[in-house]
Amino acid sequence: MRRSSVVKKVIRKASKPREREITKNVVSRLDKNRKTSLRSHAKITIKGKNSTIKKEPVKEPEPTFMRDPKMYQKIMELPVYEPSNEEFREPFVLIKKLYDLGYHKYGCVKLKTPKTWNPQFSYNRGEKKLNTRKQILRDLIKGKAFEQNIESYTAQEFKEMADDFQKNYKRNASFKFSNNSRANEYEYWALVEDPQLSKKKVSVEYAADLPTRRYGTAFPTNYKSKMTDELDYSNEKTHPFNLNNINHAKDSLFQIIQTKSENISGITSPWIYFGMLFASFCWHVEDLYMYSINYMHQGAPKTWYCIPPDQKEAFDYIIREKYNDLFSRKPGIMHNIVLTMNPLDLVENNIPVYRTEQCPGEFIITFPKSYHAGFSHGFNISEAVNIASFDWMPFAQMAVEDYIKEGNYKNGSFPYEWLLMENVKMHSDLDLTHDAKVQLAKIYEDVRIRELEHREIILNSHAKVTIRAFNDHLTRHDAITCMACKNYPYLSYISCIACNRKVCTHHVAPCKCVNATVLLYQRFTDEELNKFSQNLKQYLPKTTPKKRGQK
Ligand SMILES: [Zn+2]
Ligand SMILES: [Zn+2]
Repeated sequence: MRRSSVVKKVIRKASKPREREITKNVVSRLDKNRKTSLRSHAKITIKGKNSTIKKEPVKEPEPTFMRDPKMYQKIMELPVYEPSNEEFREPFVLIKKLYDLGYHKYGCVKLKTPKTWNPQFSYNRGEKKLNTRKQILRDLIKGKAFEQNIESYTAQEFKEMADDFQKNYKRNASFKFSNNSRANEYEYWALVEDPQLSKKKVSVEYAADLPTRRYGTAFPTNYKSKMTDELDYSNEKTHPFNLNNINHAKDSLFQIIQTKSENISGITSPWIYFGMLFASFCWHVEDLYMYSINYMHQGAPKTWYCIPPDQKEAFDYIIREKYNDLFSRKPGIMHNIVLTMNPLDLVENNIPVYRTEQCPGEFIITFPKSYHAGFSHGFNISEAVNIASFDWMPFAQMAVEDYIKEGNYKNGSFPYEWLLMENVKMHSDLDLTHDAKVQLAKIYEDVRIRELEHREIILNSHAKVTIRAFNDHLTRHDAITCMACKNYPYLSYISCIACNRKVCTHHVAPCKCVNATVLLYQRFTDEELNKFSQNLKQYLPKTTPKKRGQK
């Protein structure tokens, strides 16, 4: 249960045959059991009568760093897509195309923007103090919460601090690397996980997840970009790839937000990020497995690592094995985004890992359910936002099911049925391609059928059920929280008349009260749900009923 460099040290120290034998056994046990070697930060004690022999510390040469620099070559380069001027207009149409081309299999894609895209850097909140997180690199494998430094620096002061840090930083690992990024990469992971370097307690600051509505955006904007505005692709103020506009773009599910003024910060309006050398974002998937899109305005590159969406479960298994003790204390730790892991641990477990360096002017799109992580190579300014397309909807359902399966350590920040229903109600006023309307109609059908099934199960499972309407159709989507899974039931929920416990209908029973009446609250009646279905039927392909082999 120890890393190879420590083992090497022990081997060097071992001078007596008996000791040598012990260490040899440890090494062979390590080789046999990869799972054990993953838990590389656990301490080992060798039991045996000779283990107390060395009381005097012996001066030994420092062991080498734990990772072979060559291993990093096993991380593959992320594909880059260079959209034409024509393609670089409608983000959702482009993303659908990328999905169909199979780019989602890499987890992320990097977009090199056309030469015509040249948004003027427009950050104008120079006087605003940023909120930064202090990141102690060696603690990134301990899952500790970041200390917040509220109102620390203005952007200019942050840049000066970041530049100073970089100027004075002396690398510890002195291998020959092909370029600066590879050298930084090696150094970064050594600072994070190498027992030798962790003595140094290097710490950096990251001004991350700052809502642009409060801290300002760096995109040019006239703050009028509503979906009713005239689109002008030659003007970056109104361009849909301006992240302030992207969620009002054609085929975006969040188009409904603007009209309802139901902004969700970081999800529907961007967040801004000020990074510095080694400023880190730990491994995470997006809330509700949404897409995210990240743009770098200026500064030093940012290294991204990502894995394919279908490797999420494998990732979860490996990281739990590695930090076994931590997970037994904090089972929901992955949702805090404070824990990292060297991508080589994934490579060694045959999970494909991709990396790229994002430079100014480039976008990174993360696909639903894809784990990603990374760090910066110096001062930089980025902006990011979540986006939702119709092909994401099934992932939202999957995310909620996963949150429940994992043990309810997280709930989605909104019920996706709310987003769906708003789109259903407003579909004729939204800018949707025919494809999107077809998807909308199909997804709605699935949700309607499932909802009616749940209602029927409730009616059949309890002796006394009273159906009630929501007090108001406009009851906010997050007004009711399920007391079993913490999610927001949207279409309906059940409640016990005796104890008042409220839960989603899929839990079937609200509580264990005997003979109490169950109240079934419905936001829409069955008839209303069916009527929406009628309105959408026009988009569904006309099929002759029940013919096999047809979609
Ligand atoms: Zn629930
Ligand atoms: Zn009850």
